[in-house]
Amino acid sequence: MDPHPLAVVTACGDPRFQRPFKYFTREELGLQRRDFVPIKIAGGGSAILAHPQQLKDEFVSLVRQIRFYISHFGSIRRVILIGHEDCGFYRGISGLEGLADKEREDLPVAMNMLRQSIDLHIVIEAYYAKFVDLEKTQITFQEVYSQSM
Ligand SMILES: [Zn+2]
Repeated sequence: MDPHPLAVVTACGDPRFQRPFKYFTREELGLQRRDFVPIKIAGGGSAILAHPQQLKDEFVSLVRQIRFYISHFGSIRRVILIGHEDCGFYRGISGLEGLADKEREDLPVAMNMLRQSIDLHIVIEAYYAKFVDLEKTQITFQEVYSQSM
């Protein structure tokens, strides 16, 4: 059977979030494993998409990958960016380390950057995973909206 994925989902590889990501994708986004193309990337994609100046090579490479999947699988209608709290990737980007909630603030910026880079019929969605408790054992997801569309 030919694959007919409906979405591309970019998310960080942080092990603390893998089970919640999997559950959220299936139960909340309604995407079974065969329904989406996962892109596992440090920072979840939004860090790179929101900072094309600092991360030029990564930006070009990520946009190329997303475009490839969209053109290769004509069934794709959604690109979903998932960011998360306390992302270690941010500690490696100069100028971004130590900024509270930067991971969340980057998501609408990333959505706008991606909007300029892919076909208009593709819906772009973003979600932010954050810890509910101080012990960092429970995670919740918030939808994030782009500001200027
Ligand atoms: Zn991360």
